[in-house]
Amino acid sequence: MGGQGVPWRRAGACYGEPGFAGSESINHQRGNSMKTLILLILFIAAFIIGGILLLGQAQSAQHESGMGYEDTPMLPGSKWHVHDAKRPQPVKVTAGTSSTQERAGLPPSDAEVLFDGQDISKWKNAEGGPAHWTVRDGYLEVAPQAGDISTREQFGDIQLHVEWRTPSPLKPGNVWQGNSGVFLFGVYELQVFESSRNLIYADGQAGAIYGQYPPLVNPSRDPGQWQVYDIIFNPARFEDGRLETPAYITVFQNGVVIQNHTAIMGETGHRILPRYTDRGPQGPVRLQDHGDLIRYRNIWVRPLKDRD
Ligand code: MG
Repeated sequence: MGGQGVPWRRAGACYGEPGFAGSESINHQRGNSMKTLILLILFIAAFIIGGILLLGQAQSAQHESGMGYEDTPMLPGSKWHVHDAKRPQPVKVTAGTSSTQERAGLPPSDAEVLFDGQDISKWKNAEGGPAHWTVRDGYLEVAPQAGDISTREQFGDIQLHVEWRTPSPLKPGNVWQGNSGVFLFGVYELQVFESSRNLIYADGQAGAIYGQYPPLVNPSRDPGQWQVYDIIFNPARFEDGRLETPAYITVFQNGVVIQNHTAIMGETGHRILPRYTDRGPQGPVRLQDHGDLIRYRNIWVRPLKDRD
């Protein structure tokens, strides 16, 4: 019975007992295993720490010239790497503010103001003399019979901001009204028209590239409300007098896209097909006198250039 109570003794392998003939050997083996385990742990730790140090060195080498990288692929058609550390930073510009019905907003800090509510010296009449439209209470109003007015300065690629309002109340009867226009390059008309209630053929309403493309949608405000055109315009490119690239125009009316990189067909006409003429790399901005008392305010332009 007693022997059965100590089963470990039956194993005959207890330390210090006569039957424990291989105990030192087993202990030695255990010691070796422990050493191997510790060495393995140390080896793994050294491997991980070494890896971290190497990665840190590689990263610091990539960042040594500042932000970005120089060991990345070259961007196609560009002199810059992906994330290029040496690529110039964009010029800082202070953004403008939005207009309200009561008050015109501020232009961006790098805009050239074409009409600030008072001064129309940057505009001329068709003969090159002073513009004789009416300036009153911060707006510029068409003076019927005075004719179109154009900027004295000429532009190529531009961002153009124009605010306009059609007269209120509407003229009685079913008559077209509220007609003026912003002519890009002096020859491509972005139509200004009373289009909240006043129907005309689709390519003649507000936001149309007159005679070519209606606007994508009609976000026109009521007569007497100020409306906004934000325009991006790229002139046509000619090679030896031959058209290489048409003029393109993108327009937001009251914040809504109405022309999306539209390829203009040619110079604006009435009841005729548009055609192109090579007029060189720059042209003016022209405002149309169509006999209606359209008002303009807060007109500014930003000439656009390619990135460095
Ligand atoms: Mg017009």
